[in-house]
Amino acid sequence: MNRSDCRTTTAHLVAIDGPVASGKTEVGRALAQRLGWRLFDTGVMYRAATWHALRNEVHLDEGESVAELIRSADIALRPTTDAHGTDLDIFVNGEPATPHLREPDVESAVPVVAAIAEVRELLVAHQQRQSTQGNLVVVGRDIGTVVLPDAPAKIFLTASEEVRAQRRAAQMNHVADTASVLRATRRRDERDRSRAASPLIPATDAMILDTSSLTLEQSVDAAEQIVRSRIPQLRGVVEAR
Ligand code: C5P
Repeated sequence: MNRSDCRTTTAHLVAIDGPVASGKTEVGRALAQRLGWRLFDTGVMYRAATWHALRNEVHLDEGESVAELIRSADIALRPTTDAHGTDLDIFVNGEPATPHLREPDVESAVPVVAAIAEVRELLVAHQQRQSTQGNLVVVGRDIGTVVLPDAPAKIFLTASEEVRAQRRAAQMNHVADTASVLRATRRRDERDRSRAASPLIPATDAMILDTSSLTLEQSVDAAEQIVRSRIPQLRGVVEAR
């Protein structure tokens, strides 16, 4: 990817990073709705790659084999037709991957696949190409640091471990108790933070937004304020679409 291609549309990009259940996707989606943009949740790419590797029975500890499989796959994102009207659906070799992204085996294997440097290189390049269209709220772990270092508005969302575990348990319809969700959340965060390739850290120019004591509406208000202060073109623009 030629970085100058990326630069032409950075004015219309917002980067949101943060740990598991910090509210990135919900805040990102609501923010995209307010701006009339789309949500690009990069986690779906790592999940789709994991689903594809699992169904092809590639050993996940053989990083080069996983990367080879992903390199030869056609991974495509298309605007969703669902009610939100903001999301992107993901397809692997023409097959819809979206319905499989939350399956338990994908859930537990995704941090392993996401730690493979060659896989990250392929998916980051794809994310940068996808972002050239602009008008996107891009959500992930390394968006402000690696994928879109020139994005004018960068937000790092956080919340206390307890609040994140409660939110995660609620997302999972309380099928697991909060204590075991807290342990799983800690494990996944630890893997994302300690990996050698693009660890989860805030960009130096990111605004840190702690949502522990905020409702979703308050978090979106705060995020929107940050975005409008960082992107002069958006000041006074209520809705672009
Ligand atoms: O955000 P989500 O939970 O869907 O992400 C799933 C996993 O994908 C994360 O735990 C992380 O390991 C990986 N990921 C990443 N970089 C991104 C987005 C997600 O490493 N930009």
